[in-house]
Amino acid sequence: MTTSKSPGRPAKRTMWDIASHFYADAVADMAVHPGVRDQLREPQRVLNVSFPVKMDDGSVRMFTGWRVHHNIVRGPAKGGIRYAPGLTLEDVQGLAMMMTWKTAVVGLPFGGAKGGVACDPHRLSHDELERITRRYTLEIIPLLGPERDIPAPDMGTDERVMAWIMDTYSLVKGYSVPAVVTGKPVAVGGSHGRRRATGRGVVFVLRELAERVGLDLRGARVAVHGFGKVGSTVAYMLYHVLGSRVVAVCDSRGGVYHPDGLDILDLQRYKAETGSVVGFPGGEAVSSPEMLTVPCDVLVPASVECVITEENADRVQARVIVEAANAPLTPEADHILRERGVAVVPDVLANAGGVTVSYFEWVQDLQSFFWTEEEVTQQLKRVMTRAFDRVYTLASEANVSLRTAAYRLAISRVATAYELRGFYP
Ligand code: GLU
Repeated sequence: MTTSKSPGRPAKRTMWDIASHFYADAVADMAVHPGVRDQLREPQRVLNVSFPVKMDDGSVRMFTGWRVHHNIVRGPAKGGIRYAPGLTLEDVQGLAMMMTWKTAVVGLPFGGAKGGVACDPHRLSHDELERITRRYTLEIIPLLGPERDIPAPDMGTDERVMAWIMDTYSLVKGYSVPAVVTGKPVAVGGSHGRRRATGRGVVFVLRELAERVGLDLRGARVAVHGFGKVGSTVAYMLYHVLGSRVVAVCDSRGGVYHPDGLDILDLQRYKAETGSVVGFPGGEAVSSPEMLTVPCDVLVPASVECVITEENADRVQARVIVEAANAPLTPEADHILRERGVAVVPDVLANAGGVTVSYFEWVQDLQSFFWTEEEVTQQLKRVMTRAFDRVYTLASEANVSLRTAAYRLAISRVATAYELRGFYP
């Protein structure tokens, strides 16, 4: 097993390790053609790009980026673009593999991809970000296209970055091609409801699970790790719509806790004013790691990968975990929590609401016919609820975890596509 090591720090699991581990675990008990099994272990295509960008001070800096197609047997490659310092090819490959399972588990006609640039968007100016984005788009353009590969936002990228990608691609083509990227602003072909889609999807699957395990979400104690687009939507919906007690939230700077629940509307206003949840007067300060182990019924990790490891998994008090982020649990943590009987809705199902509304955006762009937010949300609910039901039934019948069931469902759909299309030549 490969791990990335940096001097003086413990070996860190790469996303590729994690995705490969969960894949190998699930496929081991499946009757999948050995050729297909081996193919799915590797990414189908990897493009490594390295390019110069003129910085605001007149200097020229080199950047490295990637676009990986893990698998495209079920349709065009689909997946986000991540801008993060220290991003590696292993991370992008792992995230691309997760996208293959994510699109398959909710039944979207897409394959799995991911891309990214190793850079820190918080330390770049607006103009530098634009130049990096446009140059990166030009470098990966041989792979892109509405019928080939459709990027979307991921950590460190947003609607604005998607608009630049769409514009750069369109300028090369000579006409507007909105369907080449999703997660765009509504004014240039984006979909209503895309921004909140991942958070909404998380809440839809949590509601389904809560009903099955007899957990009343009204008054239930919920901790949300991460207060970005996804975490704040989840906290808002649980607090405002479902009447849960959101007892703890955090962001990259720290967290806040109140055993009776936080006023999420006040907290959202506070964060908008100060830039962080830290110092919010409606609760006491907790550190981000402490927040994962506060007394609660539901834990929603919605920040970054690997926040729950073998070091803290036995101290998690929640009975239900919904993986709003990609890979928030290491395989070791997943094992510990399974042994302890904690129900974990895996990332490939739990956060698939984002790519589901990306699919709706792509469909709307191709048809130049746009839906209302109500229509988008209704269709999202239908897709998420149906996928959850399939996964839950499979897990109960085979007496396996929701993760194993989700992976088995996804792998079998990809394998079926291979068998029907055949091997060529
Ligand atoms: N980056 C998101 C994810 O990890 C969305 C991908 C998409 O919409 O294509 O699921």
